[in-house]
Amino acid sequence: MQAPRAADSLDWPSVHREALDILTRYLRIDTSNPPGREAPAARFLGALLEAEGIETRYIETAPQREILYARIPGDGSQRGLMLANHLDVVPPEPRYWSTKPFEPVEQGGRVYGRGAVDMKGFAVMQLIALLLARRQGLRLTRDLVYCAVPDEEALGRFGMRWLCEQHPELLDGVEYAINEGGSGSLDFGERPVFQVAVNEKWVCWMRITARGIPGHGGIPNPPEQNPIVRLSRAIERLVTWKRPVVVTPETRAWLDRLTAQGLAYWGTTEARLEHAVEASPGLRALFTNTLNVTMVQGGVKANVVPGRAIATLDCRLLPGQSRDAWRDEVLARIDDPDVRVEFFDGLDTEAPRPASFDTDFFRTIETAIADAIPDAVVVPSITVGGTDNRFLRARGIHAYGLIPAVLTGAERAGFHGNDEHITLDHLNSGTELTYDIVRRMCT
Ligand SMILES: [Zn+2]
Repeated sequence: MQAPRAADSLDWPSVHREALDILTRYLRIDTSNPPGREAPAARFLGALLEAEGIETRYIETAPQREILYARIPGDGSQRGLMLANHLDVVPPEPRYWSTKPFEPVEQGGRVYGRGAVDMKGFAVMQLIALLLARRQGLRLTRDLVYCAVPDEEALGRFGMRWLCEQHPELLDGVEYAINEGGSGSLDFGERPVFQVAVNEKWVCWMRITARGIPGHGGIPNPPEQNPIVRLSRAIERLVTWKRPVVVTPETRAWLDRLTAQGLAYWGTTEARLEHAVEASPGLRALFTNTLNVTMVQGGVKANVVPGRAIATLDCRLLPGQSRDAWRDEVLARIDDPDVRVEFFDGLDTEAPRPASFDTDFFRTIETAIADAIPDAVVVPSITVGGTDNRFLRARGIHAYGLIPAVLTGAERAGFHGNDEHITLDHLNSGTELTYDIVRRMCT
């Protein structure tokens, strides 16, 4: 990747070494959530900003859990840009790793460690952007905010959601944000495609409970009285359920732009799209409401027929969908009066709100990417998982999900997976691109 022209005065090799050094030290801090304990990570990043005279604030959300918030003021002629990331990581399963998850190693041009892509790598790219903005003496037209939060991996109750509810004033004047939720990839052929998430699916976990008649395991009662049998039938009906392809405004734009570039390999007809969606789990996630059975409980003893059995469904709804309508559809599909369905408590009861992609920020991202990688394509998209962006978008901030690097399939498999790593080339190009986006937006 070419270095952005206006930043030619920067000594990029030394910036790359600094990014790697910071990332390696950051990956050593175990912020597995649960329990989180992100305060040392917040302090580690904060100290690096303070060392350059950037003012920081730590906000405790629970014991040993802190938000790091830093703000470099601009001249006020434009509204602020927030670089947002999360401090926590999902717990690794070390026995499936070929390295130790919290003892980062550099090997074959990659850095391995839990959090390398989700999302300590991008947190470091963002941090370097602040350090460079300060060192280069950029005259900022808007405030540049850095916000690293706990608890993203557990619904944000002690993280971004907490910040938005308890300290909304810290978001005052913030117009745009960039966080995780999308990235570049080579999924569509040789040309890199950057998918910028402007919305996300609605996490709607459900519990389905089948009731039956408890009894002695030695008496062959009718199977339909056995709740485990009823639950199995319900699950079978749900997992064989073909749901329709739904094109949202975001995926309409996604389709149109890929088609215009000749990258929609499935063709342009609706029938071809439906066929492609059926064949690809990734496209199914993008174009349909999804469900997965993730937990089953039932029975207490080998010789007792239980009175009930419970399954957990991880359901994700597309933008524009209704939770109540979805529950009705699930009930109709199960078609069994002895099976109940309910949503988990504590989930968002409002649908995620979209960010506009007709903004200066979106266009700036497009221009910065085009200058760095001339044959790249930038498309709006939706995140099929949940991110903290939804809390910011709910407050009217145009929050985009984009790690500005072309990640390989293996790197993306590291999100919540084993042998999580980031390629040094991607850490470096992402660091340059993040700074370039910030410089273009804020000066
Ligand atoms: Zn993440």
